[in-house]
Amino acid sequence: MLSSQYLHIFSAALFILSLKWMGEVKTSRYGNWSAILGMVTAIIATYLAFPVDHVPLMIGAAVIGTLIGIPIAMNVPMTAVPQQTAISHAFGSLSVALLGVAEYYQRAPHVDPFTMSVLSSEIILGFLTFSGSCIAFAKLQEIIPGKPFVYKGSNVVSLSVLGAAVLLAADLVLHPGSQSLILAIIALALLFGFLLVMSIGGADMPTVIAILNSFAGISGAGLGFVLNSKILVVAGTLDGASGLVLAIIMSEAMNRSFINVLFGGFGAAPAGGSNGAGSHHPQRSVKSYLPEDVASLLDGARLVVVVPGYGMAVAQAQHAVKDLATILESRDCKVRYAIHPVAGRMPGHMNVLLAEVQIPYSNLLEMDEVNPMFPEADMTIVVGANDVVNPAARTQTDSPLYGMPILDADKSRSVVFIKRSMNPGFAGVDNELFYLPQTMMVFGDAKKVITDITSALKKN
Ligand code: NDP
Repeated sequence: MLSSQYLHIFSAALFILSLKWMGEVKTSRYGNWSAILGMVTAIIATYLAFPVDHVPLMIGAAVIGTLIGIPIAMNVPMTAVPQQTAISHAFGSLSVALLGVAEYYQRAPHVDPFTMSVLSSEIILGFLTFSGSCIAFAKLQEIIPGKPFVYKGSNVVSLSVLGAAVLLAADLVLHPGSQSLILAIIALALLFGFLLVMSIGGADMPTVIAILNSFAGISGAGLGFVLNSKILVVAGTLDGASGLVLAIIMSEAMNRSFINVLFGGFGAAPAGGSNGAGSHHPQRSVKSYLPEDVASLLDGARLVVVVPGYGMAVAQAQHAVKDLATILESRDCKVRYAIHPVAGRMPGHMNVLLAEVQIPYSNLLEMDEVNPMFPEADMTIVVGANDVVNPAARTQTDSPLYGMPILDADKSRSVVFIKRSMNPGFAGVDNELFYLPQTMMVFGDAKKVITDITSALKKN
């Protein structure tokens, strides 16, 4: 039907605009609305384009899904967005994979080789994304340990499972009537997704989710070819490409390769090394200070750099940070925010939190821009960050952080580290910066410590 074709073009344009608008904080809300409108338009256009038998059933399912989805999305804490994304991908990829299976059973044994190869590829991708996303969710939600499950030859086992699935799929392309093969392919794809993500450490989960997102998109695009649904091809391709680009950006920010993320076993405690999870130098001491001490040092400061990290998100300390900045700025002190591309647990995590409290976007500086400022700063305040300022990334070749570009907080004249304990960050490695002569540790919840610094500053 012609009108549905126009609607599909309109919704494809909305999806493309949504990705463009989401690229900037200023326009990101439009991006969100554009994606919602695009999806609603795509659903209406699909209803118009294809004959639908059970309309009440479909509307009922959509209403139930919406009633479950909206409260989950509204109530999920910011720190749990990665696992929410993982479980959403799990359901999305499962539905694509099941549709592929249903399509196969409807058409078999008369499936041409092209359709069969697309169908079997999308079924493999869909099911491995489903089981992989479920494991990513379980690791991020700490239902299972985040450590990589690796053993000698684990990569060979995983790749053999994938290889077997591909071989059976090739057999199915040649003999589309062998219906039992599809069940074996599904089982192998599920097993591969499970093994792949089990062998990856929790710290890499957000990157893995981006990769799985990409797989789900490609799988959807494949189904679009089989069903002759242009909008599914467009939306799936956009999803696949954006997931891939995001995964590349994240890997580059951590100075890692894709292969290293997928098969590197990152996050495993190095054997016998000093960088194992939770390890620190018991023989070395750190200097512990009170918020009042920091307040008196801030008196007369001209430039303060704030380094926000995952702990700021956990403590929801962004409002307290803004209050501290406001009082400092009222005293002619410039406050700038050093944003590391992988600070927190998802891309843009810090930008979103700081934008939420109306901190001007021009004050958020990316790594290249802010690094030359550290030697000039009177004080660097590290608010719940850890790995992103760990100098081991520059020098310790045996550290899992080695090679990751970091914020040069250690080059500041004084560094205030706000965290609750000596525990390491997500990579599980000790931080040399804790022990440097210019570093002051202020132990406590980030929100409380910053609020106490502000109160003390007001009294000075
Ligand atoms: P880290 O995970 O390195 O450190 C966070 C620190 O916050 C911890 O040391 C913790 O110490 C502290 N903390 C936790 N809760 C609180 C609280 N309530 N108050 C004060 N401090 C608190 O965070 P970073 O942001 O520095 O680094 C992010 C890590 O995540 C990197 O390793 C990065 O590679 C990884 N990662 C990030 C991705 C992204 O997209 N952003 C993607 C993939 C990986 P304590 O327990 O002592 O309080």
